[in-house]
Amino acid sequence: MHTRTALISGASIAGLSAAFWLSRAGWAVTVLERADAFRDGGQNIDVRGSGREVLAKMGLEDQVRAQTTTEEGTAFVDDKGRTVGAFPVRGTDGLTAELEILRGDLARLILEALPPEVSVRYGDRIEHVHNREENVEVELLSGKKETYDLLVIAEGVRSKTRDNVFAGDVSRRELELNIAYGTIPRTAEDDRWWRWYTAPDRRQVSLRPDNQGTIRAMLAFTSKDRNFAALPPDQARAELSRVFEGAGWQTQRVVDGFETSHDVYFDYLTQIMMTRWSKGRTCVMGDAAWCVTPIGGGGSSLALIGGYVLAAFLSQAPPPTDSADRSANDLQPYLDQYEQWMRPLIDKAQHLPPGAPKMFYPKTRAGVGTIHTLIRIASLGPVRKVASRFNPIAKKQQDLPEIRLVQQV
Ligand SMILES: Cc1cc2nc3c(=O)[nH]c(=O)nc-3n(C[C@H](O)[C@H](O)[C@H](O)COP(=O)(O)OP(=O)(O)OC[C@H]3O[C@@H](n4cnc5c(N)ncnc54)[C@H](O)[C@@H]3O)c2cc1C
Repeated sequence: MHTRTALISGASIAGLSAAFWLSRAGWAVTVLERADAFRDGGQNIDVRGSGREVLAKMGLEDQVRAQTTTEEGTAFVDDKGRTVGAFPVRGTDGLTAELEILRGDLARLILEALPPEVSVRYGDRIEHVHNREENVEVELLSGKKETYDLLVIAEGVRSKTRDNVFAGDVSRRELELNIAYGTIPRTAEDDRWWRWYTAPDRRQVSLRPDNQGTIRAMLAFTSKDRNFAALPPDQARAELSRVFEGAGWQTQRVVDGFETSHDVYFDYLTQIMMTRWSKGRTCVMGDAAWCVTPIGGGGSSLALIGGYVLAAFLSQAPPPTDSADRSANDLQPYLDQYEQWMRPLIDKAQHLPPGAPKMFYPKTRAGVGTIHTLIRIASLGPVRKVASRFNPIAKKQQDLPEIRLVQQV
């Protein structure tokens, strides 16, 4: 009997979740990562709703709980550092979720939980894809040619393979927001709260604790025509320091910290919309398929869920017994079901309130005052409770599909 084979391109949350579940569903899985080694970087991410359920099914919930960033809540502060409104962790899904973990820690936990049969290869990438009825052939940068039953593209928001295979099916919505993330030293004054500051001239600064004795900092500003992610990092850093001049609170500490930080990461937030998520023997998932950006929130939960849901529907495909069974894309109905299950969740996550994110980045001091008033109201107990119910990822929309496993977790 033929064992179905999959190549998963991209070894982050989406690709590793798909590898975990497809392998346990009996597929022979290869993961290809273009970086030379596993990518450990990344800041605080949260796991909510069905993402949490997938983690529990993976048997990883306790391990994630043991590695949380230990954040106790989110506090919005003014230029003197005084709290304007506070949102302590209550239940599972406040602004700070109960399960907050560094991206690299979560990815590593999944990597280490992969069945030993999964092959993870680094330092190579796809150059060409030949989608056929009965299989897909890839040509790699290393010169290798390989054939699989399915190619899963999980290369993140700037995926090149997606753009090649799905040319014409991809559109982008730029949110006109630059964000720089980086790790800076912790000081005696830092506590276990996420502190968030809004400055005039459309700027925000935030500081978050982690479980490694450092602070995860963020500088964000809106701009229609400046994309710092497209600049060489040194130039982006220099321009960032100019943009944040005189912003107040602890901004200068962050700007100085980013000068020497080893992991400053620039993002120009862009949502990805696709008219379809599969084409022949190739499908796409995670940020590559539906990037929601940190403004929509829940990108990592959706990546976890996507890996499970894709594998769950593919696990329903009858096993191929001879070559005839593998022709005419017998996987298409299951890829369609994966898309039908995920679409409503993604549509909700990509839907932003009118004016967002720009309305949270006021130009004037008076605008900052209005934001503070809104935060004060939102932080009142009853309002806070109602607001947390509107998080589309936290809210369970539908039951996860059943998965047929050949190897139990
Ligand atoms: C190093 C790193 C740091 C991050 N930091 C943050 C952060 O601080 N805050 C935040 O909100 N989000 C961050 N993200 C994004 C976050 O992980 C995703 O939004 C979310 O988890 C969905 O993950 P994903 O697997 O779909 O995509 P991603 O996490 O973006 O992963 C895509 C993976 O595919 C690999 N890849 C790309 N192109 C190719 C190719 N052609 N061939 C093979 N592999 C390829 C990338 O190296 C990466 O490992 C970070 C991602 C990475 C990789």
